[in-house]
Amino acid sequence: MLAEIITIGDELLIGQVVDTNSAFIAKQLNKIGVSVYQITSIQDDKQHILQALEDAENRVDIIICTGGLGPTKDDITKKTIAEYFNDILVKNDAVLENIEHIWKQHIRTKLLQVNKDQALIPSKSKPLMNKLGTAPGMWIEKGDKVFISLPGVPYEMKALIEYQVVPQLKDKYNFPFILHKTMIVYGLGESALADRIEAWEDALPKHIKLAYLPNLGKMRLRLSTKGFDEVKLRQEVQDQIDKVIPLIEEEYAGLEDEEGSVEVVIAKQLTKLGSTLAIAESCTGGAVAERFTSHSGASAFFKGGLVTYATESKINVLNISKADIDAHSVVSSQVVEAMAKNAQQLFQSDYAVATTGNAGPTKGDSDAEVGTVHIAIANNNDVYSQEFNFGNSRLKVIQKAVNKALEMLQKEIFKN
Ligand code: ATP
Repeated sequence: MLAEIITIGDELLIGQVVDTNSAFIAKQLNKIGVSVYQITSIQDDKQHILQALEDAENRVDIIICTGGLGPTKDDITKKTIAEYFNDILVKNDAVLENIEHIWKQHIRTKLLQVNKDQALIPSKSKPLMNKLGTAPGMWIEKGDKVFISLPGVPYEMKALIEYQVVPQLKDKYNFPFILHKTMIVYGLGESALADRIEAWEDALPKHIKLAYLPNLGKMRLRLSTKGFDEVKLRQEVQDQIDKVIPLIEEEYAGLEDEEGSVEVVIAKQLTKLGSTLAIAESCTGGAVAERFTSHSGASAFFKGGLVTYATESKINVLNISKADIDAHSVVSSQVVEAMAKNAQQLFQSDYAVATTGNAGPTKGDSDAEVGTVHIAIANNNDVYSQEFNFGNSRLKVIQKAVNKALEMLQKEIFKN
């Protein structure tokens, strides 16, 4: 069972909006056993949409489009879909009722005819009721194939995928089980890692695929497989993981959560332990804290963070001693450890992580080499830090510092 995702919108093709819809949809489809064969972004252009639909129909079973369902003249997806199916648009009373309801609840301006016209859908389609917006999703079947058209607005699209598309696809088809397990490995480059595990990789069964996903100091090693016997597949993949871990014992940092990322793994562990976290950042500018707060449930463990960027903020807000800064500079183990310890005390947390460094391109309030970063971890008994040099590209230094801070924190909280 194969799917294609077509995202429609000029804004995607001029780089104004990044196509996050496809990534979300692909992830959800994978979870239910649907492989995505192709993702395409196209213009709000009739011929382009017609061609993309025809090409996709020739290749796959499930076609999901997003975008271009709004009330304005540039939103042409609905009309074009009707044309593709030799169909006409007809008023759907349930959709109109939903539009009127949304209007009454949330919108003060007059309900215009163009808004009411959003209740027009192809006669061959079934509406997917959009509780969060006025553009309905549409589901059209042609033979064994399903065409789904969804609004482009990410949160509307997400709700429709989760509560309508996925359940209805599961009802219609019998999907295989798709399994991805991702190991996180730190401190080994792609080729060094490949060399280390070459014999293991060569002996992998054909139905288990391996992918290397390098990302600034962190490597993700993904094993993927699919089939109908979930228990057997899980066991086979686990056996392979057990075989490879001894080869990368030092560098292996654990499995990425099936939902995604290292911060999710940390969040789950902290929540499980009933432990709390505080963060004090300088060169990472709040990026470590953002990794946690971008996921729901952070309030269960995250007490708070401070971005003390200027030297005087480190002194005045985080109570770092001026004498220490004068003696060792703001980019030093003494200062970063004091930042972690003081953040832990200030926020009354069990753990704290702190960063300070010279991200470049010029040196700031410290003589430390560009790329130098100190990261500290404080727990209830101890504080320790490490010094790194992450090179001379500002964004790379910051990203690597964030990844390393999360790596150190993960190792710390899994110690017990
Ligand atoms: P509306 O009813 O709000 O007009 P629509 O179906 O017409 O919805 P678009 O106008 O295509 O949707 O897009 C609305 C907004 O949703 C865009 O401005 C953009 O910010 C966002 N968006 C659209 N497509 C994508 C996408 N593929 N990935 C991420 N965001 C997107």
